[in-house]
Order: sequence, then structure tokens, then C-alpha cells
Amino acid sequence: MSLLVVGSVAFDALESPYGKVDRALGGAATYFAVAASFFTPVNLVAIVGDDFTKEDEEIFRGRNIDVSGLERAVGKTFFWAGRYSENLNERVTLATELNVFAEFKPRLPEKYRASKYVFLANIAPDLQRDVLHQVNGKPKMAALDTMNYWIERTNSELRETLRHVDILMINDAETRQLSNEHNLLRAAKHIFKMGPSTLVVKRGEYGAMMVDRRGVFCVPAFPLEEPHDPTGAGDSFAGGFMGYLAGAKDTRDATLRRAMVYGSVLGSFAVERFGLERLRVLKRSEIHARARHFAKLTQFKL
Ligand code: AMP
Repeated sequence: MSLLVVGSVAFDALESPYGKVDRALGGAATYFAVAASFFTPVNLVAIVGDDFTKEDEEIFRGRNIDVSGLERAVGKTFFWAGRYSENLNERVTLATELNVFAEFKPRLPEKYRASKYVFLANIAPDLQRDVLHQVNGKPKMAALDTMNYWIERTNSELRETLRHVDILMINDAETRQLSNEHNLLRAAKHIFKMGPSTLVVKRGEYGAMMVDRRGVFCVPAFPLEEPHDPTGAGDSFAGGFMGYLAGAKDTRDATLRRAMVYGSVLGSFAVERFGLERLRVLKRSEIHARARHFAKLTQFKL
């Protein structure tokens, strides 16, 4: 079942205690598409500038990713720069340059319009909504990610977009910022009033938590001895989660719980190396082996 994603395709400058890169391929939709493509075909909607080469586009080739919705424009590709703290838990944004995204008017290729699973990855909320509205009928599941940049600058547009989605998938700081509530369970109640019926909170090295009307489900993060770069972990989590759901073609509680595990698996691989380096060479067999490892990690008897 194909999965539609709109979000940033970017060049990132990254600094962590493990090293520094001035220009790595990144972007929320890039991480998401690569992670999800292990489970299901992905339809990508985004824009890049004329500095985005055929070589950069290689990341999408040989995978289940349709790039007919990847527009090329005159100008520069979205650019983001960030620096991580010693423990990798906090990061500061040093630069966000929207560039070609500032004027982007997405037009969905006809074949994308039947998509039943939609992921609105991190980008301007009105672009997210515009894409969602071009999908035929109501998707089986629409999920959305966002970040402080959009919560602060485009709050009312974000609120409007949220009315149309089923799942909100954001990190703990963003959950608190959006809901004005420190406690995550109370924050979930606020967020349900905004539209989504499920909240997935990504909590970095502390794992992820899903809250819906049935209750709460938590997965740990995979314990890694040497994480290198958390960039894209959240988007890779979302790709594993939505990719698994679209591949499984159902939205029952047991399937959602497994999707949480596959999300955590993909997120854990993303942080093992800088940028997309680890996902680029990842194999399906490694994904399933780590999912089995997760089952062992969390098993206990009462
Ligand atoms: P994550 O680490 O999962 O939060 O995502 C990091 C990716 O998000 C990077 O590759 C950036 O290019 C991209 N990104 C950062 N800020 C923004 C923003 N304001 N809008 C869209 N994408 C962004």
C-alpha cells in the first residue's frame, strides 16, 4: 500500500562531539522515505534547488521510492545547521534557510492521489495541508510531524492542519511547547482536542510513547554504545512506523505496537553514523534481527 510523504529534502551542516560535516544530504522527507521504503512503496513530494545533483538523488534510487513528485527549481536547496550537546540529548539550530521551499506550490502527480497512508513530515504546515487536500478521499491514516520552528512561527496554520490528521508524531520538547503542558499524558489530552486521536512522543535515548484512547504503550530506544549523530532519528522512527503500518495494511492496536518497535529500530540505525550513512547501507535482514532483539530486550515474566 503506497505511502505519501511531503517534507524537507535538505543539505545539513552537523556538529556533534563525534565530528563535524559541512554539507550532508538530509531533510525530514529524505530520512523518512529511505526508512519507510524497507516496508512499502513511498511517493515523495518535495522540492530541491539546482545545487542538488544526480549524485545526491542516488539516495532514492534502487529503492521503493517514486520521485516524480520531487520538483527541481532554480535556487538553493533547503539548508539546516545544528549542533549537539556532549550527551547528544540537546541540540541548537544554528541556521534554517528555506530557500526553494519558500515559494513551493506542490502539485501531486495523478498517481500519488490514491495514497491511503500519508505522512506530513516536518515542513511548513500550510504546505502539509495543501498536499493532504490533494489526496483523493480521506486517507486511511494521516500522520504529522513538526518542530519548534513551525510551532513558533506558524502556530495558527499548524492548528488548522492538525484538525485533519489522525496521528501527531513529535518529540517531548515539541509536545510540551505545543500543549503548554509539562506532563505528557496531560499534554496528550490537550492534543486530542486539536484533532489527532493518537499521539506518538519521540523521547530520544529514552524511547517513544504512544497515547490513544485505549491507553499508553512505550518502547525503549535500542541501547547503543556509540551513537554518533541523532539527526534524522525522529524522521527515521516515523518512516519505520508508517512504513510498517502501510505494509501491514491495518491499524489495529497490535499492529500499531509493532509499528512502534519498527520505528525505534529504524531510529536506532539512523544514529549509528553521521547523516544518512548508516541507512544508506542498511539491509532488511538487519532490521528484522534488531526487531527480534527488541522483543528480547523487553520480555519479562510476572
Ligand atoms: P530530526 O533530527 O528527525 O528532527 O530531523 C532532522 C532533519 O530535519 C534535518 O535533516 C533537517 O534538514 C530537517 N529540518 C530541520 N529543521 C527543519 C525545519 N524547520 N523544517 C523542515 N525540516 C527541517
